[in-house]
Amino acid sequence: MARVQLRNVEKVYGGTLKAVHGINLDIRDGEFMVLVGPSGCAKSTTLRMIAGLEEITGGDIMIGDRRVNDLPPSKRSIAMVFQNYALYPHMKVRGNLAFGLRIAGRPRAEIDAAIDQVARILEIEPLLDRLPKQLSGGQAQRVALGRALIKKPGVFLFDEPLSNLDAKLRASMRVRITDLHRELKAQGLSSTVVYVTHDQTEAMTMGDRICVMQSGRIMQVATPKELYNHPANLFVAGFIGSPEMNLIEGAIDNGSFRLGSQQLALGEAVLSRLSAKPGEVVLGVRPQHLALASEGPALPARLLSVEFMGHEVYLHADLEGHRIVSVVGADEYERLGQTDQIRLIPDLKSLHVFDKPDGRNIVLRGGSMAA
Ligand code: ADP
Ligand code: MG
Repeated sequence: MARVQLRNVEKVYGGTLKAVHGINLDIRDGEFMVLVGPSGCAKSTTLRMIAGLEEITGGDIMIGDRRVNDLPPSKRSIAMVFQNYALYPHMKVRGNLAFGLRIAGRPRAEIDAAIDQVARILEIEPLLDRLPKQLSGGQAQRVALGRALIKKPGVFLFDEPLSNLDAKLRASMRVRITDLHRELKAQGLSSTVVYVTHDQTEAMTMGDRICVMQSGRIMQVATPKELYNHPANLFVAGFIGSPEMNLIEGAIDNGSFRLGSQQLALGEAVLSRLSAKPGEVVLGVRPQHLALASEGPALPARLLSVEFMGHEVYLHADLEGHRIVSVVGADEYERLGQTDQIRLIPDLKSLHVFDKPDGRNIVLRGGSMAA
């Protein structure tokens, strides 16, 4: 069992700087949990406390059935992979892979067999007799992964392991890591993963669940789909999704969203699903849910610039002083012709409504808003 539990975990640096504010998180055995958030939100601090590399100043951490607060990293059944690989520069790849098992006093034959197996899985057999400085970034990262894998830990801890790689390699390593996790699970090996990244694409594509953090606090823990469809608050709404969700301040009264001189009728289908009486709100519309209207009621906007992405086009427009983005099909954009006056219509069943003072999403969960 390699379940990981954080109970009211706090971290105060140097007696004054509170980096982690009493967080609670339950990571299931075998789960791939991603910690995501902007730089400085305490992802690394949290991971390092799980690893035992950083003392906790309050609360409890459990790995499996054990309270590990006072256990050194070597006794926690964890293996960590860092952004900078942290390979021993004077040891060949083979030596780097063997290191952990050698100091644990494992027999030579067992170590050799383990190296062969891990090298085969990660396709690093031809690299075994090279030094780290003779490796590319992607190769070094696979060796670092191998060094974690060979320990057969209960919990893998990753701290931004792909951040130093170029975009193409990053994309292929994402798949390699999630495939590896799935294979280990299929073999019945307990392989819980806690994976730290600031990159929402990594989080969305890799996580079974995602824990979104801001300033040492947890904003939401949910599956990628749930985060996308029901962000709990403005912070999560703005952080998850690409391009970013349009967040438009205005007011709801008389069943319509009022924005400057414009009005958008929301209808019962939306209004009946609000958990609080709306007033001053922030309307959230993903760019993918904001379409060009050919007829009927719509919001007039002025086109500012256009980004061609291939089959899609990102339209940047001004809506009553708000800069907004709409993602439309390339053919739809073609039909617009030479004009900077466009009319946009949000998909009402995919609207998000956030209460103005506290940023809470007040749309009730469960199914779409369609009547
Ligand atoms: P992240 O990994 O999300 O970028 P960190 O966990 O590295 O964030 O940092 C969280 C906060 O704790 C930041 O304000 C950072 O400056 C502070 N911090 C991190 N490590 C230390 C340290 N060793 N001493 C003092 N403050 C630290
Ligand atoms: Mg960090």
